[in-house]
Amino acid sequence: MSLSHQNGTSIRFGRIELPEDFPCPECDKPTLRRVREQFDSPGGTHLEDLERIRCLSCGEEFFDIEAMRLIEAARPPKARPRKTLHKSASAIKHA
Ligand SMILES: [Zn+2]
Repeated sequence: MSLSHQNGTSIRFGRIELPEDFPCPECDKPTLRRVREQFDSPGGTHLEDLERIRCLSCGEEFFDIEAMRLIEAARPPKARPRKTLHKSASAIKHA
């Protein structure tokens, strides 16, 4: 059985339905809203239209499994993190 229907609106989050006053895991305020808009990640992933949950209070975004899959599929191949080595401290001379 699914969750019982309440009078207030609820937020459908993938297969999960959150009550309207569900607190944000980050700031604990009941300001989570479902949004569907353009998504750009710092790693270069771009999606025209991605559905996710956003906290109107702290701005934190939450993705369900489907959104994660879309992000994963849209991720550019060269977005792997580059490793940098610190060589400057390797040559210490003793007199
Ligand atoms: Zn929040």
